[in-house]
Amino acid sequence: MMIIPEIKNIALVAHDNKKKDLMEWAAFNKDSLCRHHLFATGTTGTLLQQELGCPVHCYNSGPFGGDQQIGAAISEGKIHVLIFFWDPLNQLPHDPDVKALLRLAAVWNIPVACNRATADFLISSPLFSRPYEKILPDYSPYLNRFKK
Ligand code: PGA
Repeated sequence: MMIIPEIKNIALVAHDNKKKDLMEWAAFNKDSLCRHHLFATGTTGTLLQQELGCPVHCYNSGPFGGDQQIGAAISEGKIHVLIFFWDPLNQLPHDPDVKALLRLAAVWNIPVACNRATADFLISSPLFSRPYEKILPDYSPYLNRFKK
């Protein structure tokens, strides 16, 4: 079990064809979003800062390791929610990183929104602004498989 605090660390990433979508969504939800700590890949984060006027911690740009940095932060328990508007119609040079980020979000039971409708459901949930007890999957059988 892990407590996700009331003020959450939220990572936001949007591929180029989805950046407009994310900026519109973020602007609409500016008040709720800015109550949390925001993190993003480089270009998405720069645009978000302009749009929202609140601080956004920027990792590297996605293709230069930003997706992997966010994945690492998820595995360290430092990111609580992921808003990831990935582009379903185009291949990208960092497709393996996209897959890896989604995989780690699933491994660590992180709430993920990959499109605007899901992001609307997520942000309008009462849990978005409350502490939440997250169940962590039990990976001990896997981790202990070679233990004598
Ligand atoms: P960007 O990265 O925010 O730096 O554009 C997003 C991505 O392509 O993963």
